[in-house]
Amino acid sequence: MPICNVCFRHCKIEEGKTGFCGARTCRDGKVVAANYGKITSAALDPIEKKPLKMFRSGKKVLSIGSYGCNLRCPFCQNSDISWSEQAFEYEKYAEYFSPEEIVERAVELKPKGNIGVAFTYNEPMVGYEFVRDTARLSKKAGLENVLVTNGTADTDVLEEILDCIDAMNIDLKAFSKDFYHNLIGGDLDMTKRFIENSVEKCHVELTTLIIPDENDSEDEMAALSSWVAELEKRYSKKIPLHITRFFPRFHMTDKEPTPVSKIFRLVDVAKQKLEYVFPGNV
Ligand code: SF4
Repeated sequence: MPICNVCFRHCKIEEGKTGFCGARTCRDGKVVAANYGKITSAALDPIEKKPLKMFRSGKKVLSIGSYGCNLRCPFCQNSDISWSEQAFEYEKYAEYFSPEEIVERAVELKPKGNIGVAFTYNEPMVGYEFVRDTARLSKKAGLENVLVTNGTADTDVLEEILDCIDAMNIDLKAFSKDFYHNLIGGDLDMTKRFIENSVEKCHVELTTLIIPDENDSEDEMAALSSWVAELEKRYSKKIPLHITRFFPRFHMTDKEPTPVSKIFRLVDVAKQKLEYVFPGNV
C-alpha cells in the first residue's frame, strides 16, 4: 500500500481512501493531494493578520485556504476547514481554482495593495503541490508568497516550496514533546527542523498560542525563546515571536481565556533573549 511521506505520520493509504489529514489520497497507486486547487476560503487580508509584523508592513495579501490538517489541536480556530466532520466534506463541495486563476486574481488585486499570495487558513503543507505550483507562477508574475503553517512536514517536502516562499509564519505551539505528542498529535522535533530549515532561506516569524496550564510556564517560554535566540545567532537573522492569547474554542471550552497579564509576563520573559516579541489577541 502506498505511503505518504509528507509528515511524520507516514500514512499508508488504500486506493480511493484518504490519509489522517483528510487531504491526501491514493489514485492509481500513487499518493496525491485530493485537495489540490479546492479553495474553501479567500480574502484580501492585511499582512499583519497572518501574523507578520516585519514583512511588507501596511500591505495586503490574497489569502487562500483549502481543507485538511495533520494535527488535532482541540482548540483549533479553523476547525470547519481543518479537522471537523464538515472539513472532510469539502472534497465534494469546494470549488476548484487552478494556480493560473489564483495568480491572475492576485495580479488584478495589486492596485489594492496586494503583494501576492498567502497559503493559510487550513494546513497548506498537506497539499504542498498546489502551494508549489501556484507560488512558482506567482513569482514569475513578480509577486511574493507567504506560507502560514504548523511546520509539520518533512524536509524533502519543504525543499519543494522553499525557493518560492518569501515569508512564513510558523506555529511553535509549545516547547514540550509531551504537549505536541499528547495534546495536539504533533512532533516537536519535526517542527523544529522545519523552522530551522526555513529560517535559513526566508523571513520567518513564529507564533505561540498560550493556553492556561498547558504551555504557560515561564520556564517553558525561557527555553523556547533561548532556542529561537540560538537560531537567530546561527543564521544572523531576526526571528519575531508572537505570543498570543487563547480563547475557548471547538473541543477546548472548559478553560478560561488566557489572562492578559500572563501574556505580557511571558512577553517579558521572551524579551530577555529576543528583540522582537509581540503580544497577540490582547
Ligand atoms: S500529510 Fe496527511 S496523509 Fe500524509 S502522512 Fe501526514 S497526515 Fe498522513
